[in-house]
Amino acid sequence: MIRVTRVLALVLAAAVLAPPAAAVELDGRVVDLTHPFEAGVLTWPSNRPFVLEKDHDGMTAGGYYYAANSFCMAEHTGTHVDAPLHFHRGGAAVDALALERLIAPALVVDVSAAAAADRDYLIGLDDLGAWEARHGRVPAGAIVLFRTGFGGRWPDKERYAGTAETGAAAVAKLHFPGLDPRGAAWLAERAVGAVGLDTPSIDHGPSTDFASHVVLARAGIPVLENLANLDQLPARGATVVALPMKLKGGSGAPLRVVAIVPPAVDEGEPAR
Ligand SMILES: [Zn+2]
Repeated sequence: MIRVTRVLALVLAAAVLAPPAAAVELDGRVVDLTHPFEAGVLTWPSNRPFVLEKDHDGMTAGGYYYAANSFCMAEHTGTHVDAPLHFHRGGAAVDALALERLIAPALVVDVSAAAAADRDYLIGLDDLGAWEARHGRVPAGAIVLFRTGFGGRWPDKERYAGTAETGAAAVAKLHFPGLDPRGAAWLAERAVGAVGLDTPSIDHGPSTDFASHVVLARAGIPVLENLANLDQLPARGATVVALPMKLKGGSGAPLRVVAIVPPAVDEGEPAR
């Protein structure tokens, strides 16, 4: 944590003091866990679609080139965070999320084999117990990420989410893995900082009660959804930086989320 905090401070300093005397070197490789936001980007079927419009793209009367766009999107589009307010009245909104929950050591629970065999797979206590048996107790404050392998199916909506259709009726056609509510309760007991995965929702596609959302929201735990590139992370040792737009009162917001994997982790025992 201290090392990453220092690195972030250097990045900020470099941004302010232009030009930097030397390139800032991050202590480790940086993995982008964010899918691009673009026309057609996946959102919940009942949401309004993402729209980006060019306001200007060309030469001006002043003799300089100028580009600017406007965009409009539902909060829960693409790679995004669910704030506790999303499923718990009075829960924290996006702007009130503690940054310590969003910048924290990460661990990855790989359930990709089970999810490949069952596209509605429910990640359960067995998966969490198996991770702990191999790697030790899940630490309080950690960001727990579930790698279902479905991130590799993006942006094919049919294969990723079960349907490419939009509208409220399409919600019943969703199929993808998610977290069993008993697993959510277990994570809340462990007092984790945040939970995330590479599917559209922490509750699996067929869910109608969104019980894992409710359990985590009541516990004040934010959820990171539609994450990319989880296959590039070790089971433990990475640090995740998941910074949402500071949307005042938002129930969720788009994320730019990255992970930093220190060289010592890459050079050490294969953590998977
Ligand atoms: Zn969401």
